[in-house]
Amino acid sequence: MLANKVTVPVPEIKERKIVKPLLCGPGPCDLWPSVIEALSKPVLTPICDEFFSVLDELRAGIQYLFQTKSKLVLALSGSGHSGMETIITNLVAPGETLLIASRGIWDKRALNIAHRFGIKTEVTSVQMDQTFSLEQIERELKRVRPTALFVTHGDSSTGTVQRIEGLGELCHKYGTLLLVDTVVSIAGVPFLMDEWRVDGVYTSSQKALSGPAGISPVAFSARAEEKINKRSHQPPFYYDMKMLADQWNCYGNTRKYHHTLSAPLVWALRASFQELAKETLPKSWERHAKVTAHFHKRLQAEGFQFLVPKPEDRLVTVTTITLPRGYDYQQFSKYMRENYNILIFAGLGPTVGKALRVGIMGVNSTMEVANAVVDAMVATRNSLKKSSL
Ligand SMILES: *Cc1c(COP(=O)(O)O)cnc(C)c1O
Repeated sequence: MLANKVTVPVPEIKERKIVKPLLCGPGPCDLWPSVIEALSKPVLTPICDEFFSVLDELRAGIQYLFQTKSKLVLALSGSGHSGMETIITNLVAPGETLLIASRGIWDKRALNIAHRFGIKTEVTSVQMDQTFSLEQIERELKRVRPTALFVTHGDSSTGTVQRIEGLGELCHKYGTLLLVDTVVSIAGVPFLMDEWRVDGVYTSSQKALSGPAGISPVAFSARAEEKINKRSHQPPFYYDMKMLADQWNCYGNTRKYHHTLSAPLVWALRASFQELAKETLPKSWERHAKVTAHFHKRLQAEGFQFLVPKPEDRLVTVTTITLPRGYDYQQFSKYMRENYNILIFAGLGPTVGKALRVGIMGVNSTMEVANAVVDAMVATRNSLKKSSL
């Protein structure tokens, strides 16, 4: 035995109690009870029949989620960022150009990914509390003639929602593919991939789907599929859609092993889709809209101000709120966590020091949660005023 060679000491990993806060930040969100249960289902191996029939169910769930009849749909083993990396590197070759519509932090990540992969980039921006007009996008498409346009639907760093309708037609007029981040909008805000002619889209399990992070639906249009099939460049191995399509049986019964999917995450996503199928998309959109309208009305009645000036630009799932001069955003969030066990976040990227970010989505999109958050925010504002101003 090599026992005497064991020189690194045994780590001390003690039992630990975790008090779960109410997760009302821009993600992760709390889990559906059915998802929590699904996480302990048996492990599936990547070569058994059950496994492949569950993947078929997930693909049907993803088609419903994005509203697409496209064949090239599957879920990646990774958080939302894996979707970003996949759609960019599979659809834009090194040396080709990606036009990035920039207003928050996620488009900056897209820029970073593109640069690492040798993709040329052009950026068009708006202020962080605004969204893009079709005119601005068309002007840039005409000027740049890019291979693809990247745009974020719901931006959780700024609390804005970009209108996607109309962008598909514009992009195709200039021979451009339309790539959309729907990580924090899907299931909470209407999104219609085929109808809006989106070519590459990804989301994540951990936001309005109320699942754990780590399994991320992606979908590609027929136009995008053609580009993938004709391409001569190699995307990263782990995110190669051609290989993943063979594992997920996108084109018939290929059943090829590519990597081992996490069984708990596969079961969890399946449970999120069962919840969505029970409620249906239109009802889910309606619930989110109704609860957030109530949340906003109460915030206004209590004298809170929104960062985003135009109501139609405000994202339903994540609200950005400014505080009166003298309040510290980090301290405010910390106080909410310590005194009310509610987790909300301060700003990120362009909204650092400028806003609070509150997520009311998924299982937490209820009147009770909205009321609890407003009540705690009012109490926090009063307490911090007394003690520190
Ligand atoms: C949270 C978020 C991401 C990143 O997702 P991860 O699961 O953390 O990788 C990307 N885009 C948007 C809009 C998000 O809100």
